[in-house]
Amino acid sequence: MRIGYGWDSHEFKAGIPLRIGGVTLPHSHGLGGHSDGDVLLHALTDALLGAVAAPDIGTLFPPSDAKWKGADSAVFLREALARASAAGYSIINVDSTLILAAPKIGPHAAAIRESVAKLLNIPSNCVGLKAKTPEGMGTDNAAIAHAVVLLREKP
Ligand SMILES: [Zn+2]
Repeated sequence: MRIGYGWDSHEFKAGIPLRIGGVTLPHSHGLGGHSDGDVLLHALTDALLGAVAAPDIGTLFPPSDAKWKGADSAVFLREALARASAAGYSIINVDSTLILAAPKIGPHAAAIRESVAKLLNIPSNCVGLKAKTPEGMGTDNAAIAHAVVLLREKP
């Protein structure tokens, strides 16, 4: 078995779509930076890559490369999944924590878990998602994601 861990953060920017876990959430601000700014998919991508000791997301998909500007982050996750599979592993489960002041994730949690499960080809009861507010951290203008993944050797 293998374990992988990923972390990511992006800054909120006005007037762009908010994408989390491949789902577009209704909100005044989206996440700027690399690609579509999907902080959860980026953390999951790095967790998968880390589990098989592959290069990290920033190495495989450099933010400086214009090709990835506004890109659908599902592309990164699919590549990570392909690398894990090529290394001989399949996913047992993933778990994640989102830390953001707004919007509330609760009403969207089921849709996000469903979306991530679909992207990873695993049942949604194998996708954990918790949401926290950044109490006392002074990071209200950012969204942060932590993710872990557990892999097993394919038969
Ligand atoms: Zn990112």
